[in-house]
Amino acid sequence: MKITRIEAFQVAWSPNDKPQQHSAFVLVHTDDGLTGIGEASPMQGGRASLGMIRDDIVPMLIGRDPLDHAVLLDQALHTLVKLGPEGALTSALAALDIALWDLKGKLTGLPIYKLIGGAWKTALPFYASIGGNGERTVDQVCAVVEQRLKDKPAAVKIRFDNNRTQLDADIPGDIAKAKAVRKLVGDGFPLAFDANNCYSIGGAIRVGRALEELGYWWFEEPVQHYHIKAMGEVAQRLSITVSAGEQTYTLAGLADLIGAGVRMVQPDIVKMGGITGLLRCAAVAHAHGVELVPHQTQPMIGHTASLHVMASLLQNTKPAEWNDPSTRTHVVFENPPLPVQGLFHLSDAPGLGLRLNLAELAKRRVG
Ligand code: CA
Repeated sequence: MKITRIEAFQVAWSPNDKPQQHSAFVLVHTDDGLTGIGEASPMQGGRASLGMIRDDIVPMLIGRDPLDHAVLLDQALHTLVKLGPEGALTSALAALDIALWDLKGKLTGLPIYKLIGGAWKTALPFYASIGGNGERTVDQVCAVVEQRLKDKPAAVKIRFDNNRTQLDADIPGDIAKAKAVRKLVGDGFPLAFDANNCYSIGGAIRVGRALEELGYWWFEEPVQHYHIKAMGEVAQRLSITVSAGEQTYTLAGLADLIGAGVRMVQPDIVKMGGITGLLRCAAVAHAHGVELVPHQTQPMIGHTASLHVMASLLQNTKPAEWNDPSTRTHVVFENPPLPVQGLFHLSDAPGLGLRLNLAELAKRRVG
């Protein structure tokens, strides 16, 4: 089998979307008529990654055997390493890796979770990940949480998404929202708090102690992601589990985060390595007794790939993230990934198990 053609393009979900709100898809075609689908990180519409795929990576892959995916993509990474390698390049490679695993499944007639060693379970609980709470009032935060509880999540995470150039902007307000949500859901319900990197070390300790009092399950990215030692210090000084890693793009970066003291890591399959990369992250995390809880950006191709990996993990300690419950991306799939009664179900269809509606995709394809 040989790779004959690769398409890399943006998808616009609404005519009013700005280019940075688009998604970034890849389709890898082979000489025996199979097509694998992948997705790059949608940050800034994935434009930088799509450019690297089209200009730099496609020429390295045409005519090659897709079953050599790990060799091919490690070759590409080391050829293009001076582009970063973090961020756009690793996301480009992640999109291709997911598509090549999808192809491998279609070639063998097996779901990806079978190819990576089997699933402990194929029905996975999720947590509702709720962004934008920095700008909401306490009452508005509670209203949004109440709305998302209708989907029967196993846990809720409130994200703050504040301006990253301003630290500790409203610590009393943030704690008030954490308290109100605890009161709303009751003492026993699992909650998480995502600071989106907007505290100093001292601010993070203050908020973390409040979250400990309130019985929160984990405290995510309390300080700037690039201050790895500071992240580790906060993790080690607090009792609550501190998590980070959604902005970690290499395996060495993940090892540094764990070495600094972080004990729950959240690499994102569309930002680093795809399925191959996330499996490598799982091995590193397991070797250190560290929890791996993958980050999710959008509930479609990358999310489904992530679920295949999560299903295969020996120690899958937390539910899968479900960020965006809107149905706007569903139209391009004949079987969009949607939870039923609080669970995402993996299909036993080949590859990812997702079937594209090509006519609907063509209408939304940009360029
Ligand atoms: Ca986060």
